[in-house]
Amino acid sequence: MSLKVWIDGRLMDKADAKVSVYDHGLLYGDGVFEGIRLYHGKVFEADAHLRRLFDSAKSIRLTIPFAPEQLKSAIQETAKANNFADCYVRLVVTRGVGYLGLNPNKCSSPSVFIITDTIEMYPKEVYEKGMAVITSSYIRNHPGAMSARVKSLNYLNSILAKIEAADAGVPEAIMLNHLGNVAECTADNLFVVKFGKVLTPTITDGILEGVTRQVILDLCRNLAIPCGEHTLQRHDLYIADECFLTGTGAEVVPVTKIDGRQVGSGQPGKITRRLIDAFRTYIRESAK
Ligand code: PMP
Repeated sequence: MSLKVWIDGRLMDKADAKVSVYDHGLLYGDGVFEGIRLYHGKVFEADAHLRRLFDSAKSIRLTIPFAPEQLKSAIQETAKANNFADCYVRLVVTRGVGYLGLNPNKCSSPSVFIITDTIEMYPKEVYEKGMAVITSSYIRNHPGAMSARVKSLNYLNSILAKIEAADAGVPEAIMLNHLGNVAECTADNLFVVKFGKVLTPTITDGILEGVTRQVILDLCRNLAIPCGEHTLQRHDLYIADECFLTGTGAEVVPVTKIDGRQVGSGQPGKITRRLIDAFRTYIRESAK
């Protein structure tokens, strides 16, 4: 059976699911998107993802031609058409078809599409043993340019950092901001643990407000694990007792080496492992 893709209100075969070469999403990265998970047939943290999508769209003056509830139903409809109870969901809104110039006002109408597919995570081993990362020489979006809070279709900055990581022989890179403070990874948020306290950079350090990040902060509060949003320097990474990254696709991944320095014992930390378990329980509970 061919995979079905939802485009502008209609389900189509993957082979027929195409956008125009004049779409400004393709020509200029003019658009926004969400990466979402479906667990046990339910859209995980649907409201938070849809809120971020509409906020991102508003920020770039893009009007989404569907209501959040309609998009939520469309995600479920697409997953159902593909017989998926667990999958990754890519929801994309482009500026739509226009002329070759930048002017978004010449684009007739935004295009919305939803792809549901199997999820590609890090290898199982990484979740058990942790992973090595580097800090990138590419900084996260400057606040005077496009806000890192907008989940836009232009990921070149992150892609360059990802290439730098691959060149260094590691799967992921941590990006600093224009002040040299820690921001986030190429497509994941970052946490450290120091003296039993879970810390993650603040929104104003230039990060995407990760949905998984928020779930982890809430879980810490529920479990009475001290936590907070704090500006961190590269040095804080080097002296951390534990480190992990969070994201919709990756979930919670322990980091055990940063720029050649072992993190803590070199094994995934106690609090990290506790939060991985709590996150898995939360997924099961929220699918009920
Ligand atoms: N930062 C960036 C730059 C991202 O693209 C993402 C999403 N993959 C995240 C952080 C993590 O956000 P979420 O937990 O909502 O997936």
